[in-house]
Amino acid sequence: MNRNRTWMILLLLLSLSAAPAAAGFDGWFTGDTLRVDLYHSGTAAEERIALGRLRIEGPWPGSRTRLLDETGLGKYRVEVVALPSNRVIYSRGFASIYGEWETTGEANQGVWNTIEEAVRIPEPKARFQLRLMKRASDQTFAQLWTRTIDPASRFVDRSPVPPADVVEIEVHGDPATKVDLLILGDGYAADRRDKFLADARKARDALFAVDPFKKRRKDFNTRAIWTPSPEQGVARPRAGVYRETPLGARYNTFDSERYVLSLEDKRWRDVAAAAPYDTVLILVDERKYGGGGIFNLYATAAADSAYADYLVVHEFGHSFAGLGDEYYSSSVAYEKFTAPDVEPWEPNITALLDPEKLKWADLVDGTPLPTPWGKEAYDAESRAYQERRNAMRAEGASEAEMEALFDEVKKESTATLAAEKHAGKVGAFEGAMYESRGLYRPRADCIMFTRNDVGFCPVCSRAIEQVIDLLSR
Ligand SMILES: [Zn+2]
Repeated sequence: MNRNRTWMILLLLLSLSAAPAAAGFDGWFTGDTLRVDLYHSGTAAEERIALGRLRIEGPWPGSRTRLLDETGLGKYRVEVVALPSNRVIYSRGFASIYGEWETTGEANQGVWNTIEEAVRIPEPKARFQLRLMKRASDQTFAQLWTRTIDPASRFVDRSPVPPADVVEIEVHGDPATKVDLLILGDGYAADRRDKFLADARKARDALFAVDPFKKRRKDFNTRAIWTPSPEQGVARPRAGVYRETPLGARYNTFDSERYVLSLEDKRWRDVAAAAPYDTVLILVDERKYGGGGIFNLYATAAADSAYADYLVVHEFGHSFAGLGDEYYSSSVAYEKFTAPDVEPWEPNITALLDPEKLKWADLVDGTPLPTPWGKEAYDAESRAYQERRNAMRAEGASEAEMEALFDEVKKESTATLAAEKHAGKVGAFEGAMYESRGLYRPRADCIMFTRNDVGFCPVCSRAIEQVIDLLSR
């Protein structure tokens, strides 16, 4: 009898210590969201973090049961550490604009830059340690920065979030058990509210037309916030066009022609704070092809491009699930994105250092590794297309002309890749994430590889579903 009781107490204690985060949301957290603004500075060799503003932003929209991020995604990870127990009570992987900037040529030359970023966490009830972890070259996380924060201090801004024009596009339930997608618009002139909402619904339709978003549609809520801009369009510095827009979105990030990001983190987050959100899509009211996506930050897309639907889905793949680009032939600004002798953290890219331990081995069905494919012929086709694209751009071709070229390439490459011996099968196809050699993608074709209508490959789909689970349960 006594022995049984001892065992029961022991089991009870064990179960308490084994699942503190799962049982503990109401014990650890107030239920509100704490936004921590940061300044992320450095060069390719040095990195510094400084604390900015602390701000309470409405009810916590994330999961209250899955507090620890076990997906392993992200170049960085934020951890909330309870004191004095030093127990990690919340964690979440993310990437950042800084994380890309530090791989550019300028950063390699020792030029310093400061990029604003923020982490949003459930507000702890007591003093806690905020810890930023960064992936080391061996891919394990090491502490980059830490700071003790007292939520009760006068440095935490508790003023009400200003109201905004929030529109519910499609709501399926409580933010705590749904993925809350927030669509923002930049460069929309004041008389374009209806156009913005139509664009937001079109983006929602594009996303939920593709699996696994399609089959998990009811795990999402979609809202939009209308934010008028003083005039039409966003900044395009390479074309000499400058616009002061409310969210700060612009083309030519890192001097890349089609890369649309906002470096004004505080500005867009102050707008976004009016609605619950786990993930953000920023539409720009532009025809010019462009977009961007940073894991656990936001995705951007040009709403009027003929390829807007593709842009939304592809860029959202980056921002939502940390998917890497599977393409390798386009010219991009990163000069040293991933050393091919290290296994990348991106779930859909492998260096195939040990085929036996391939991270998606369970999805491979008898395909040889690496998987032979007609790379030489594809590369020749691709090079010819790049040359035409560059020449057309140099001649100032219109968006309609560029889109016609995309259509041609899409038709050709869809047929070429579908004719592959191992088309449709999961394997390890050489050529991925800006590297022609040494990095491999999971399938001959995927929306992270081309603009073709082939959806996400099974490896990308699985990574997306893992994040949906993390945010909606
Ligand atoms: Zn893929």
